[in-house]
This record gives sequence, structure tokens and C-alpha cells, in this order.
Amino acid sequence: MTLLHISHLKRTYNQNSTHPVKALKDISFDVAPGEYIAIMGESGAGKSTLLNIIATLEKANDGEIFLNQQNLNQLTADQAAKYRREHLGFIFQHFNLLNSLSNRDNIYLPLVLAKLPVTTMEERIKPLAASLGIEQILDRYPSEVSGGQQQRVAIARALITQPDLLLADEPTGALDSNTSNEILALFDHVNQQQQTIIMVTHSAAAASHAKRTLFIKDGRIYHELFRGENSLKHYQEQISQTMMTLTNGGE
Ligand code: ADP
Repeated sequence: MTLLHISHLKRTYNQNSTHPVKALKDISFDVAPGEYIAIMGESGAGKSTLLNIIATLEKANDGEIFLNQQNLNQLTADQAAKYRREHLGFIFQHFNLLNSLSNRDNIYLPLVLAKLPVTTMEERIKPLAASLGIEQILDRYPSEVSGGQQQRVAIARALITQPDLLLADEPTGALDSNTSNEILALFDHVNQQQQTIIMVTHSAAAASHAKRTLFIKDGRIYHELFRGENSLKHYQEQISQTMMTLTNGGE
């Protein structure tokens, strides 16, 4: 079964100018439900462009992208906004919480936008807050808790809509290594509950938690690695080595 189907995706910026930028040249991959995928590559490789297209924030110029049979390339801007709210969860490097709202209200926000009843919000937040260890900080404000706790709140906000796909952009980029490990352990836990995750990261340590890592170079998939039965440490070394080969221009 396929959750996300991407076939020969291409994206060129400034297409009609004298200096078009081919950000994605030809990207194809499928994601099965319950997979956990990391996307790595040097700066400028096309990772953000790919993530933005999956997130329905940008359109491809060519190729196919289907999420659960829905053709994302054919959504109007309004349809895409609705689709994002209903089917996708987002986690960012800098958490992107609203400081004027309590942590609880930040988590409720997507459900408020979706006009769900308060009883549903209360039912959903309970198990989520318990599994993320944030029950005690729900009535504080983001500025009153640590970075790691803010990211836990952001994870709760992303998951409360029960999205088909969780998209994470450098989720540990602003955290120290101990806190990163805690957040990565939570991602593992969330994935064990069958949540599909796609994570863009520069960190081999973060990518080693994913079951599969796609390496992007110059707008194409250069290589992919599967964690398989490897230990985290051994897999992390493999990922670092692949990044080194890629950076050194190896083909
Ligand atoms: P990464 O996330 O891997 O750093 P990006 O997807 O941001 O890579 O960028 C891929 C290429 O597309 C780069 O050459 C970048 O300069 C270019 N690019 C990205 N966004 C735009 C844009 N809005 N307009 C023009 N060029 C862009």
C-alpha cells in the first residue's frame, strides 16, 4: 500500500527568466503508511522545495504527487489550505508556537480552526499530553517552558488533528543533544503508533532514528539507506559516511 506517491517530480524557479533554477530535477519515491523517512542533503540540494511541495505550499512544474489518492498538484490554494489542516501535521525547528496563547490553546488551535467541539479537544489532548509528558505545563505559556518542552507542545499540536502524514523540518535543530535525543525518542514512539513521518534534517544522529534515509543531491535522489537491523550507532556512521561521499562529489 502507498500513502504518498511521488513520480518524476520537477520544480524550476524563475522558469521564464534568463536564469532558471532547477531545484528538483527528477524525484521519484513512494512512502508506505507507517514509514519513518529522513531526507538529507547539502544546503541548496532541494530538500525544502521537496518538503514544501509535499506540504502543498508549492506546486511542482511536472511529475506526479498523490497523498492517499489525492492529486496534490491539482489543489487550488483554498483546497490546499483545507487539505493541510485536515491531513498534514507540521513540526518546525523553532517550534512556531504562538506566545499569546497558553500551551493548551496552542495545541487546540488546529481543532478550533477545524471547528471541532470542545469535548473532542479535551478527549484528544489527554492521551497526547500524557504520552508527551506535558500534562503539567499545559496552562503555562510557551515562553515559560524550555525549548524541549516547547517542541513537545508543538508535536502535540501537530498530532491532535490525527494527520495522515507528519512533516518535520529540522525538528532538533534548535535543541542541545540531550534534549534532541528525548525528542527523537518521542518521534520513535509516535512512529511505533503507526504515524507516518517525513523529517528533513542535517543531523545524522536524527536521521539514524528513521527507518529509511533519502539523500538528495542537485535535485535528484542520490542514494537511500535502510536502517534494517542495524544499531543506531552503526546506522548513524553509515549515514555520516554517505553524507561525506555526497559532499565530496562522489557519484
Ligand atoms: P535545501 O532545502 O536543500 O537547502 P532548497 O530547496 O531551499 O534546498 O533550494 C534548492 C535550490 O532552489 C537552491 O539552488 C535555491 O537557491 C533555489 N531556490 C529555493 N527557493 C527558491 C525561490 N523561491 N526562488 C528561486 N530559487 C529558489
